[in-house]
Amino acid sequence: DRVYQDRVYFDSYSDVSIHEEMLADRVRTGAYRSAILRNSASIRGRTVLDVGAGTGVLSAFCVQAGARRVYAVEASSIAEQALKIVKQNNMETQIQVIRGAVEAVELPERVDVIVSEWMGYALLHESMLQSVLYARDKWLRPGGLLLPSRAELFIAPVSDPVVEERLRFWFTVKEQYGVDMSCMRDFAKSCIMNSDISVSPVTVEDVLSHPARFAELDLDTLTPEELREVKGHFKCSSFGCASVNALCVWFSVSFPCPDEPQLPVVLSTSPFHPETHWKQAVLYLDCPVDVEQDTVISGEVQMFASERSDRHICIRVNCAIGDENRQNKTFSIPDWS
Ligand code: SAH
Repeated sequence: DRVYQDRVYFDSYSDVSIHEEMLADRVRTGAYRSAILRNSASIRGRTVLDVGAGTGVLSAFCVQAGARRVYAVEASSIAEQALKIVKQNNMETQIQVIRGAVEAVELPERVDVIVSEWMGYALLHESMLQSVLYARDKWLRPGGLLLPSRAELFIAPVSDPVVEERLRFWFTVKEQYGVDMSCMRDFAKSCIMNSDISVSPVTVEDVLSHPARFAELDLDTLTPEELREVKGHFKCSSFGCASVNALCVWFSVSFPCPDEPQLPVVLSTSPFHPETHWKQAVLYLDCPVDVEQDTVISGEVQMFASERSDRHICIRVNCAIGDENRQNKTFSIPDWS
């Protein structure tokens, strides 16, 4: 049930490792820091709510940007460390660490700004965005600033060479040991090209088309109902001859910059950009499909919570590769992650 799922979820944030991984991700933490500092005109002298403060790093950035008061709300026991970090940095007068779920805590006032790092694998895994929308509707004053304020989802066909190699492996056993195991190929294929979302870094050379954006979320106006199913269409055109064995999904979020509206700070997890701890979400097709230059890969992506847990994301892809091949498959993040 939900209470149990939440406990497991918050417990996963009570260890040092996950915070270490996030702080060590300089693309992530650097993007938040520059976005917060570049919005200092809206933060200076104002009140901020940090939803899911963790170590309190974003709250500290807000103090660096001149915030008068920051409510650092954190449900897991990492809040105890946040408190120490606040003291170590002499920020006790500005930052108030509040241990609890943002859905349950009381603040003394509405805030001018909400900052949160809520993104999971494939953007929506862990579904923490729900909590941010809840906090926005309850605690952000009308016209207040949400950081980040926009999210986008992308997809592209890929040719994962590791899969090809692992399938070919069964043809090489005979040379090594004199035992033919080539009949294992289909079994290996069904095990490897399953419906688990594989969170792994995709190499630029393996991406077979320009990225296609299939969804855009305006976080200032997005409703919890709209968030229940995020979907959209895409159309890609293959760069050249290749064997498509997977689709790759990733996201970016952006932060408004009042001084230079045409230059928002963008935190991108694209395979074309420096790697982040989110890597990419790789969705394997049941079977590799050969494509040529300009072969069209088009269809629809739907993202929704799995039946077994609200916090587990499912991605359903219904698409056509060229004229012949149709794919319709629902993927989910396996339990380990
Ligand atoms: N802001 C920190 C941590 C981000 S990870 C940083 O940028 O490094 C997300 C954090 O949000 C986790 O520590 C998790 O425990 C917390 N969290 C998730 N949902 C929450 C909720 N509903 N209420 C309070 N904290 C929450």
